[in-house]
Amino acid sequence: MTLLSLQDVTASYGASQALFGVTLTIAEGECLALMGRNGMGKTTTVKAICRMIPAEGTLTFDSHDLHRLPSFAAARLGLGLVPEGRRCFRDLTVSENLHAAARRGPWDMDRVTGLFPRLGERKTQRAATLSGGEQQMLAIGRALMTNPRLLILDEATEGLAPLVRQEIWQAITQLKRDTGMAMLVIDKSARELAQVADRAVILERGRTAWSGPMQTLDAATRDRLVGV
Ligand code: ATP
Repeated sequence: MTLLSLQDVTASYGASQALFGVTLTIAEGECLALMGRNGMGKTTTVKAICRMIPAEGTLTFDSHDLHRLPSFAAARLGLGLVPEGRRCFRDLTVSENLHAAARRGPWDMDRVTGLFPRLGERKTQRAATLSGGEQQMLAIGRALMTNPRLLILDEATEGLAPLVRQEIWQAITQLKRDTGMAMLVIDKSARELAQVADRAVILERGRTAWSGPMQTLDAATRDRLVGV
């Protein structure tokens, strides 16, 4: 069943148009890689989905018209966002950050710290004092605490050291394998995305330029539209 559907979505920042026709769907249990070079509209697409900017076109989530939804209701509907830049509450502890996001469902503190044992070890530590990788784990943990039906990871591993990046990819793989949670993942590493994603959508200048099963994305198309 289709969980998220965008048809011909357009969006602007004031007078400057950023999306010119984005079309994508994510089925339940599916992991979609949203790809494209810098500035092609990936984050703007995420903002449109999460109602952080006004957008036109068809946007539905679980058959609900997202246009009717105020942004604060996005989490209630089941959209769990791990934003670019992480945005944890820096002065709150790990445990307070997680509790602040909690909504009823199978994901609770124990399950999150099971996925990321390091968060369990640092429960009483202020978020500001965590390493970049730990902050990203916290941002993912916080999104999971909302018990989302779709987890959106914008720049899943940006700016992280190689070993921590590996840990994040392992967690994403584990989430997919063990829970079948639907995911939309943005990341610079096409190689890692190819391992985890079922399908890909590539944006070029605010438009869907290519979409299809990940294994059908040929090297020439990838190099042309995404780069290496
Ligand atoms: P990146 O990988 O660099 O984050 P992206 O694909 O996520 O790239 P977006 O951040 O969605 O790209 O940007 C799409 C377009 O919208 C770009 O031309 C960008 O300059 C513009 N844009 C993004 N944010 C704003 C903003 N707050 N105000 C005005 N223009 C913006």
